Amino acid sequence: MSEDAVLEADTTSAQLVEAIVADAPRFTEIRRRIHAHPETGFDVVNTAGLVAGLLREWGYDVHTGIGGTGVVGQLRAGSGTRSIGIRADMDALPIHEQTQLPYASKIAGKMHACGHDGHTAILLAAAKYLAETRAFDGTLNLIFQPDEENLCGARRMIEDGLFERFPCDAVYALHNGPGIPVGQVVVKTGGVTAASDVATVTLKGVGGHGAMPDKARDPIVAAGSLIMALQTIVSRNLPASEVGVVSIGGIHAGATHNVIPDTVQLLLNMRSTNPEIRERIERRVQEIVTLQAQCFGVEATIEYKRLVPVVVNAEEPTAIARDVLTEIVGSPNVLTDSKAVMGSEDFAWMSEAVPGCYVMIGNGVGEWGGCMVHNPKYDFNDRIISLGASYWVKLVEKYLN
Ligand SMILES: [Zn+2]
Ligand SMILES: [Zn+2]
Repeated sequence: MSEDAVLEADTTSAQLVEAIVADAPRFTEIRRRIHAHPETGFDVVNTAGLVAGLLREWGYDVHTGIGGTGVVGQLRAGSGTRSIGIRADMDALPIHEQTQLPYASKIAGKMHACGHDGHTAILLAAAKYLAETRAFDGTLNLIFQPDEENLCGARRMIEDGLFERFPCDAVYALHNGPGIPVGQVVVKTGGVTAASDVATVTLKGVGGHGAMPDKARDPIVAAGSLIMALQTIVSRNLPASEVGVVSIGGIHAGATHNVIPDTVQLLLNMRSTNPEIRERIERRVQEIVTLQAQCFGVEATIEYKRLVPVVVNAEEPTAIARDVLTEIVGSPNVLTDSKAVMGSEDFAWMSEAVPGCYVMIGNGVGEWGGCMVHNPKYDFNDRIISLGASYWVKLVEKYLN
């Protein structure tokens, strides 16, 4: 079967917005243009400029420079007082692309490997249609954020007055999901991503000659014991029904064979999906580090930093999203019982400030969209632009009515 046949079979039964489908080639071209010119972090000046220019052309009231390089396009229709926010992320990753695609990244070491180019194109496709039809009653706020990958952009926009300047009764976002077939979506209430925290642990001992360990206080041996002890947090301190992760992503110490160094630095990452478990993991990391260090006669310092909370899907906005998605793809294709995802999302800050809903839409399986995000061979599947944009359009028309 050809690629076309496979992907058409997945979306032909979906109830998409016809004008969006007809306009899809234009937004595929825009998506690929963004893909070829990736920008990372807060440095998304050109992408934000492209977004702002198009929104202005379509009649949006456009505000730029929010939280650095964030953009909000506002559109009012009718006299309704309800308001909705929809978020798309614009940033790429510091990855060197290996796809050989004709529209592959032209910038060495930067790549749209998470599909934020696609999320931006999806929201632009919906924006154009909504401005032309205006079949809603209330205020629409389209939020384009920088720096999702470092989990700082949403927070910076909120600190810059995002929701005071553009009040939203509910806020929505979507992410593409490789490994989920095109035409299927995941939507559920409650926590849908993980909280992510980091800690930098420094063990300070006394350096010395490798031949005379009794004259030193060896932080390497202390680190070895600490690494194993930290593994007991998930296995021994969390209920078996709960999920959590404690990973050590870096160990830095020493330079040569015959010297005991005086310090070791460990870089830790903790993930959890509920606030009580998050507290417990943090407490146990602190206790184990302190007591292990004492045990080996070295000094420990811990810099513990909470990065981002869990994205929580609130009841009402999620029920509306589920209805709209069921109408589009049919109930068998709306997955509601997926397992916890241990990835984190900057959208957590928005869903903490305003009731929100975050959904995943299938990017495809196998060679047609199944490559995992953050992989140098990943590509966003352009076939889902129409589906994502139809979701935004129908959601706005339902929510603001
Ligand atoms: Zn990502
Ligand atoms: Zn992403």
